Amino acid sequence: MDQAKPLPRISPDNQAFWAGCKRHELVLPFCTACGKPHLPPGPVCPFCLGDTLEWRRASGHGVVSSWTVVHQPWFPAFKADLPYNVVQVELAEGPRLTANLVGAPNAVLRVGLPVEVVFDDVTPDVTLPRFRPLTP
Ligand code: ZN
Repeated sequence: MDQAKPLPRISPDNQAFWAGCKRHELVLPFCTACGKPHLPPGPVCPFCLGDTLEWRRASGHGVVSSWTVVHQPWFPAFKADLPYNVVQVELAEGPRLTANLVGAPNAVLRVGLPVEVVFDDVTPDVTLPRFRPLTP
């Protein structure tokens, strides 16, 4: 059985997010009714049930709210990094976002650690967001 995990599925609903990753920009859907960002992008805003949104750049800064150690790669390109840490980040501007953490030894990893999003071209076709400690 092939253990390789599929690459992220790009659907019409989240194409703007992945297109932003290719430009190394965090692009999130913001509700046009209440102004709050939300992922997944549809079909309605979880805060006000508004059904229209616009995609805008977000800062990508936030703090770690939880993490886990991954022993099976989420993507084939990450296999050489095993085991690695995946963090859930409470974005300053946006929802919680889950991605790999790089550049942070376990000794400094903690809830509340300030991080920023970075982008890695893991294949010629796929760019994924990751987090690294925010440099003051
Ligand atoms: Zn809303």
